[in-house]
Amino acid sequence: MNADNNSPENPGRRDVLAASAGIAVAAAVGGTVKAAAEAKAPHALPPLPWADNALDPVISSRTIGFHYGKHHKAYVDNLNKLIAGTPFADQSLEQIVKATAGKPEHAGIFNNAAQVWNHTFYWYSLRPNGGGSPPQALKEKIEASFGSVDALKQELLTAATTQFGSGWAWLVKDGDKLAVTKTPNAELPLTTGKTPLLTIDVWEHAYYLDYQNLRADYVNAVLGKLVNWEFAAANLG
Ligand code: MN
Repeated sequence: MNADNNSPENPGRRDVLAASAGIAVAAAVGGTVKAAAEAKAPHALPPLPWADNALDPVISSRTIGFHYGKHHKAYVDNLNKLIAGTPFADQSLEQIVKATAGKPEHAGIFNNAAQVWNHTFYWYSLRPNGGGSPPQALKEKIEASFGSVDALKQELLTAATTQFGSGWAWLVKDGDKLAVTKTPNAELPLTTGKTPLLTIDVWEHAYYLDYQNLRADYVNAVLGKLVNWEFAAANLG
């Protein structure tokens, strides 16, 4: 971007360019998440949508190194081992998640498949220089459902901090309305007919190296500085 875009004679030009770049990125990103959900065995660890230090200092490269390189990878590897030679080897990731949800005999496959799905979705729910104001169409839906963007953020913070133990906080589309929900462990809104728009991982491994026990500080920092509203808007469909 050249300096003219930031000149006083051209106010707003930078914002317009940033917004259109954000939409293009969100569309590509939505495609990557969809492709991962539709992929079959052997399942691959999808590439991160940014460099491992790009979220620094809100989320450190050390956290990303463990979270993506160890935890997410382990879910992928475990899933591939567990489904080898079973009918699930011929199903997409999303089909496996839906087919195994709520079935104790398939708990191992569900937990790993859902955690693969959840983590890919989580990476794309974050972006460097995120936060700020959502795209207009999403903003209007947020205001219709929650009253304001700040009220939505407060609901996400409450969901994230009241999830006892490991889990996830979500913004979802539920029919015509938007809603906030939380899920324990590997569970996810896909299996209850809701459309996930964005998620925040509240497992301790997501924040403990950077925030220790201060989950609320991590969630507030994500909501203020990293949340990818363009991705959420793209998921509205
Ligand atoms: Mn995680």
